[in-house]
Amino acid sequence: MRTVIVIGGGASGLMAALTAAREAQNRVLLLERQQRPGRKLLSTGNGRCNLTNTGASIKNYHGEDASFAQSALARFTPEDTLAFFASLGLLTEEEYGGRVYPLSNSANSVLDVLRFALDAAGAELHTSCRVERVRREKGGFAVDCGNERFFADALIVACGGAAGGKLGGVTDGYEILKSLGHSRTKLYPALTPILTAPEYPRALKGVRADAAVTLRQGRRVLAESAGEVQFTDTGVSGPAVFDVSRAAAVCGGGAEIGLDFFRRRETGELLAMLRARRDALPELEAGELLCGMLHNRLGRMCVKYAALSGGAPLRTLADEELARVLAVCRDFRLEVRGTAGFDAAQVTAGGISTAQFDPETLQSRLVGGLYACGEVLDIDGDCGGYNLQWAWASGALAGRLEG
Ligand SMILES: Cc1cc2nc3c(=O)[nH]c(=O)nc-3n(C[C@H](O)[C@H](O)[C@H](O)COP(=O)(O)OP(=O)(O)OC[C@H]3O[C@@H](n4cnc5c(N)ncnc54)[C@H](O)[C@@H]3O)c2cc1C
Repeated sequence: MRTVIVIGGGASGLMAALTAAREAQNRVLLLERQQRPGRKLLSTGNGRCNLTNTGASIKNYHGEDASFAQSALARFTPEDTLAFFASLGLLTEEEYGGRVYPLSNSANSVLDVLRFALDAAGAELHTSCRVERVRREKGGFAVDCGNERFFADALIVACGGAAGGKLGGVTDGYEILKSLGHSRTKLYPALTPILTAPEYPRALKGVRADAAVTLRQGRRVLAESAGEVQFTDTGVSGPAVFDVSRAAAVCGGGAEIGLDFFRRRETGELLAMLRARRDALPELEAGELLCGMLHNRLGRMCVKYAALSGGAPLRTLADEELARVLAVCRDFRLEVRGTAGFDAAQVTAGGISTAQFDPETLQSRLVGGLYACGEVLDIDGDCGGYNLQWAWASGALAGRLEG
């Protein structure tokens, strides 16, 4: 009998433990530092758990060598994720952009089916069990949790990353792997709100808009995305912002974000609408120029941003001024001052260097019998179910204990 210890009962650890426990020759111990496993999983997708994306491909992943993820992702595709969860009795629904959620709309369902399967496979779950130290011993591993010591023939580190601190994001996994000779790349919070000059966002706090988002540094476009943007006290948030946040975090400063609130419309058509409004409602205040086209507060803000007086009647606005307002709506610029920290981030960019792991097995090239999976490795995905797909795929591969 081979004893396998999995450190971390998050998405990737649950998958790794279940895969290993289904092999008769393995006795599997899953050690989780929190009172219950899968705490972060419960908060994913706003509590709904966007568990995969049917369009996931290697292009959705990042890291110093993102191609490292290819093998695991190819061996456990989004279709495999859906088939796997269906086999555990989970019903799922695909929504826009290939995002998949449980039909129950509750992340609890995802965690529950995993827990039941783990139990049925005979894995031993130890909660409130924080691994503090791991040492090589007798060809295996001595794993210390407080006063308890466990021995393992094979060890899978699935401790996640530093993101989502309040949900259990910690740096323990990096420390454990470093103590075994591995190195880590620089860490950045990713899929996180962007901090900007606060004047306009603060006044628009709570307003959501559909926008094309462009992150620039001087003339260089660093990243682009499109979708929902939300204004906050300190800047901008929402899925479309998350998608460019990684580039904002790593760019080293001097960046600007531009929002196009009319991404699916022609400028000529919009300008004609504004002229028609001016002609039809000449006494209407300029602040209402965009009424019906944008959220009222956002419309008024665009007029203000274009340096027009909101109280002036529309008849006083020249064509050039209408065009100026439209230009603001199409490129609402905000100076980027950084990104929100790890606590607000959904994922960690950077992690344990993948160069020291075999992509075909996820076994360490430095220490035989040592495996790693999930966010602890230097792989992070876009917003939309890609990170959990990596967690499932890498967990399933590490849990095979090949090599
Ligand atoms: C708010 C939020 C929403 C998200 N929404 C989505 C989404 O909808 N779709 C998506 O694809 N991704 C989403 N993500 C990202 C996704 O949750 C993570 O990428 C994924 O959970 C990573 O899995 P993991 O197993 O590597 O790490 P985790 O899920 O973080 O699990 C790591 C586990 O290890 C435990 N641990 C750490 N150190 C130790 C130790 N020393 N001893 C014992 N146990 C330890 C932790 O307590 C934790 O339970 C979201 C993240 C956040 C924060």
